[in-house]
Amino acid sequence: MTNFEVRAYDAAGRLGELTVPRAGVTVETPTILPVVNPHVQTIEPSTLEAEFGAEILITNSYILHGSDDLRDPALDRGLHDLLDFSGAIMTDSGSFQLSEYGEIDVTTEEILRFQRDIGSDIGTPVDIPTPPDVEREQAEAELATTQERLERAVDADTGEMLVTAPVQGSTYPDLRERAARDAKSTGLDVFPLGAVVPLMNEYRYADLADVVAACKRGLGESGPVHLFGAGHPMMFAMAAALGCDLFDSAAYALYARDDRYLTVRGTEHLDDMEYFPCHCPVCTDHTPAELAGMAEKVRGELLARHNLHVTYGEIRTVRQAIRSGTLLELVDARARGHPTMLDGYRALLDHAEQLERTDRVSKGTFFHTSAESARRPEVLRHHERLDRFDIDADEVLLTEGGSNDRYDETWGVRPPFGPYPRELGDTYPLTAEVPDRTDRAAQEAAADGVARLVELHPDVSFTLVHDDWAATALERVPQRVRLRDLHARE
Ligand SMILES: [Zn+2]
Repeated sequence: MTNFEVRAYDAAGRLGELTVPRAGVTVETPTILPVVNPHVQTIEPSTLEAEFGAEILITNSYILHGSDDLRDPALDRGLHDLLDFSGAIMTDSGSFQLSEYGEIDVTTEEILRFQRDIGSDIGTPVDIPTPPDVEREQAEAELATTQERLERAVDADTGEMLVTAPVQGSTYPDLRERAARDAKSTGLDVFPLGAVVPLMNEYRYADLADVVAACKRGLGESGPVHLFGAGHPMMFAMAAALGCDLFDSAAYALYARDDRYLTVRGTEHLDDMEYFPCHCPVCTDHTPAELAGMAEKVRGELLARHNLHVTYGEIRTVRQAIRSGTLLELVDARARGHPTMLDGYRALLDHAEQLERTDRVSKGTFFHTSAESARRPEVLRHHERLDRFDIDADEVLLTEGGSNDRYDETWGVRPPFGPYPRELGDTYPLTAEVPDRTDRAAQEAAADGVARLVELHPDVSFTLVHDDWAATALERVPQRVRLRDLHARE
């Protein structure tokens, strides 16, 4: 993929650059595309660009196509002039309207030509957004239609405009994976993961993680990947860690209209707030009571501004986390905002093996901040790599304490990783910061590492000196390993 370059990875998260030739701009990812309604602009696109640093936005070509007021101006002046925005403009096709109202009156060829003619930089064919949990037959039939339309999009004369290849397949991981592989094979430019909004609306973040992971298996490292309709900042870190690069948000404006206030931990209602927890200009210049007393339109605009500040702030936080190799620590922190986010994080960790493939080999310091940390890709990788070490000794001591001359060889032991050759103690991830009061999950993961090492060396006799491990961890250590507690007197 020549239009998209990855500069850094963390888990499956990527810092990237999307070159948009028609706009003549390069968009840094991960990023958010504010949704601009051509009829109602809560915040002007020029303001999004100047004050919030928006490099890209998304608007709906189907609305423009059907609008007597805007259709001809869009064709005559072009989208960039009409919206007064010089960055990249992506256009949606009406698929959302299709899912809401059951039918639309344009074909993929017509809407792509219209998108090209109004100067869109990234156009979208009319795919079929299949909702979650439908019968498999329906999901398969609609997928076939979507795929056929993607093939027609490939043949369409779209000039320099980039074209998206949406990935559908409802909540069937195998269909999502296959759809993603087919979308990739079209050679189109951007991959939106479609029809995930119902999952987010119902807080089904675990199902969302499974859907995204399935799509990513099919897409591989081609990209960029757009999580369509994902606009709440609380889930950016998780979605980015799974490999999503683009988000879009109507939430900043829609929520503001209902007096809802976005935070990285969830949503608050203005009526319930006595203090603003945020540092943005809106929140430092006003109290919730002042805002509540304002006219609806002014209040809505100020809340939309706050929502945008939080949204772009979280995008920068995610980028910096990828840069510094701390994205999973950020996901871990965000997962504490809501139990369903924690479910999402735990589902993400079910795919640790998949995330491990692109994860950096070396980062700053692994912070063990929760029981979930024990399931991170780094722990899995450490266990997998234990087969790289030869043991040329009869009796080996594995210990959380110091070495002992009675043994031929001494290995260190560190929860959650388990055993490691001592000379590697100063390398990532074994330099981890782990709390002194280790949790049971970390001990169990370490015990799994011990079990793996012991299994690899059937002729070696092992002794494990552990620091007061829980019985559930010790049960995972093979019976032939002699156990000693670090603090017990021999
Ligand atoms: Zn604020």
